Amino acid sequence: MTFQELNLAPAIVKAVLEQGYETPTPIQAQAIPAVLTGKDLLAGAQTGTGKTAAFSLPMLHRLTQGGTQAPAGGIRALILTPTRELAAQIEENIRSYAKYLDVTTAVIFGGVGMKPQIDRIRKGVDVLVATPGRLLDLQQQGFMDLSNVEVLVLDEADRMLDMGFIHDVKKILALVPANKQSLLFSATFSDDIRSLANNLLKNPESIQV
Ligand code: AMP
Repeated sequence: MTFQELNLAPAIVKAVLEQGYETPTPIQAQAIPAVLTGKDLLAGAQTGTGKTAAFSLPMLHRLTQGGTQAPAGGIRALILTPTRELAAQIEENIRSYAKYLDVTTAVIFGGVGMKPQIDRIRKGVDVLVATPGRLLDLQQQGFMDLSNVEVLVLDEADRMLDMGFIHDVKKILALVPANKQSLLFSATFSDDIRSLANNLLKNPESIQV
């Protein structure tokens, strides 16, 4: 299996190959075709398996409809992740995968000043990576319009719940459109994760690596 065989836009494949990736990891080989169809996804995967590209590459392809240009329209993809380190890492990865696309990305997390994040959001963002607490904070202050979200990713969902973010995550789920593609990644599957997945995902494809 090669990246060329996955039916991703040439601009995305070019960026991925420039990252030095030669072949898709197992989770990428399974998740990319599923996400490209627009289906919801429930994925069991540890960190280090290549899961960031597994959701980001098909997400970028869909946002740009296989071309390079994302139609304007506010925050169209939202990735929730538990820690600021993960958020920063994911945004950096997505930016590199989107190198040849006309797609803007931003990251917001707690523990730092809000002003630069508010200024960044105001300029317009296609893909937002965020930790739940700061996202809600900015939303409650009126700086965050989540009504155009087409793709929602819950990354490391088990860690988000372990860190006490369940209420924040549920509040955020109520702010995004019901009609969206949802992707849930978790290393473990407690009853709480299963219940969250059952509430969020519609007829999902399930994969486990
Ligand atoms: P992740 O699990 O998404 O945090 O990825 C773990 C690491 O693997 C990151 O440093 C990625 O840049 C790298 N990576 C992801 N996909 C591939 C691939 N197909 N080939 C080589 N490295 C990869």
